[in-house]
Amino acid sequence: MSDVKQNLIVLPQILSIPMRFATGPVMGYFLQELRDHQRIMANRCHVCGRFQLPPREVCAICRVPVTEFVEVGPEGVIQSYDLVYYASPDPLTGQARQAPYTTCNVLLDGVQGDDTLWHLLNETDPKKIKRGLRVRAVFNEHRTGSMHDIKYFELI
Ligand SMILES: [Zn+2]
Repeated sequence: MSDVKQNLIVLPQILSIPMRFATGPVMGYFLQELRDHQRIMANRCHVCGRFQLPPREVCAICRVPVTEFVEVGPEGVIQSYDLVYYASPDPLTGQARQAPYTTCNVLLDGVQGDDTLWHLLNETDPKKIKRGLRVRAVFNEHRTGSMHDIKYFELI
């Protein structure tokens, strides 16, 4: 080995591995309601009454199957938010979002408990964003059955 520092040679590549995952019945129903009816469905544990959003097959506290669905939102309250000035690349696509952008955790109307939904907020002016502000979900016109069927949340 020499003492001379070498420049590293970098070959940028994005790997593409086509894969498909089954959503399962609970997440499948949640995504189907987003796509077909623009409805946000949480599920409620019959033992402790907790809401889970997005819904999950088993209550994380009681560890029992959760089968009851409840429509929540589409409006709610910002519980927390992040204003992002540096966008790291999406690990799935290699693409970076245009910065700045804002993400938020929204406590949707009708949710009993503190399970929030994480999503984008279409406001990047820090003077206009506060905890406790009311927001509403804006749905994409072309929906495919994914979390992106909600385009973003907007301030009311
Ligand atoms: Zn429970």
